[in-house]
Amino acid sequence: MHLSDRITHITGGGSDGWDVFYKARRMIEDGIPVVELTIGEHDIRTDASILEAMDVSAMGGHTGYAMVPGILPLRKAVAERIEKTTGVPTTYENVLITPGGQAALFAAHTAVCDHGDKAIYLDPYYATYPGLIRGVGAIPVPVQTRAEDAFQPRAEDIAAHAQGATSLLINTPNNPTGTVYSRETLDGIADVCKQNDLWLISDEVYDSQVWQGAHISPRALPDMAERTLVIGSMSKSHAMTGSRVGWIVGPKDAIDHLINLATHTTYGVAGFIQDAAHFALAQGPELEEQVSAPFRRRRVLAQEILAGQNTVGLIPAQGAMYLMLDLRATRLSGEEFALKLLDAHHIAVMPGESFGAAAAGHVRVAMTIDDDRFAHALKTLCAFADGLVNAAK
Ligand code: PLP
Repeated sequence: MHLSDRITHITGGGSDGWDVFYKARRMIEDGIPVVELTIGEHDIRTDASILEAMDVSAMGGHTGYAMVPGILPLRKAVAERIEKTTGVPTTYENVLITPGGQAALFAAHTAVCDHGDKAIYLDPYYATYPGLIRGVGAIPVPVQTRAEDAFQPRAEDIAAHAQGATSLLINTPNNPTGTVYSRETLDGIADVCKQNDLWLISDEVYDSQVWQGAHISPRALPDMAERTLVIGSMSKSHAMTGSRVGWIVGPKDAIDHLINLATHTTYGVAGFIQDAAHFALAQGPELEEQVSAPFRRRRVLAQEILAGQNTVGLIPAQGAMYLMLDLRATRLSGEEFALKLLDAHHIAVMPGESFGAAAAGHVRVAMTIDDDRFAHALKTLCAFADGLVNAAK
């Protein structure tokens, strides 16, 4: 039977740069210990207090259909968090609760893109971006950012692709690069959006993980609230990846239509998960800081380790739970280096190429194992890179 082009073309064909990841998984299945620095999953679990709130809610009977747009207290809590951090007036009517950030990204693109529309995203990118754009029937258009700019996008590069496009998807703090977009970068992006009448879809799921500078939501920039859909999630801020709860914040009219979409697709998020998310947000920034503290610590550790050598370059790592390492001195692709490292030392990192052509010759390291093992793995990686460079001399 024929399946739709939309679903059969979600993945783009060809090598997707995930061979290292699958090879590491096979090694683990075969009983070979591998130091896993690939996936953006905390090494701590959801806090017990959040699980207790979930338990009380479920045992109290909140297991039936919940309100499709989200329970009112959670929508209000999200609106309050956003208004407090951005200064933009926001009410529950600007908020749709979704089953995680990923579903929010899909819904946001469904809301703004018609079939065949051009949807821009920035390279390097979070691995699902081009596929989700294809999944809604739009055409993904990558715009490369540059290692020499520490992957801060240039407005002129985006403008060169903006004519006739419908939307621009950005992500700050950024996965995979760890870059936090500056005010200047975001002002440039906002100008391109206004000049070309683009929707801006702003993925801010790492907004609680900022190590240097400040997170600025582009929704707060002049005349941007009316054309911006902000994607948020409890996954990274509260180590609730498995709970699948996130949101879209945007203009009321867009949210009304997105509620319609949710009614005909997800039918909302489990009530006990929403109650737990509401409890978690009510704990304020202290809990978010507690969840992000290990990454803050490990990023300092990494800076110290990398300062002691000259072979491996560190993209500044201003935010998020990853380091982007420049290995071009080895003259290997990111994938070649990652495969050699896996074979020689059983350390698994993601090739930069899995996140787009702009990250070629780099690898992404997730800071998601305990400090001692993390420091040891990073030192081993640096010594290995150094050995490769010396051997080639
Ligand atoms: N956006 C980015 C940049 C991510 O890195 C992730 C997950 O790793 C997501 C969105 C999706 O997160 P979730 O669906 O768990 O909220």
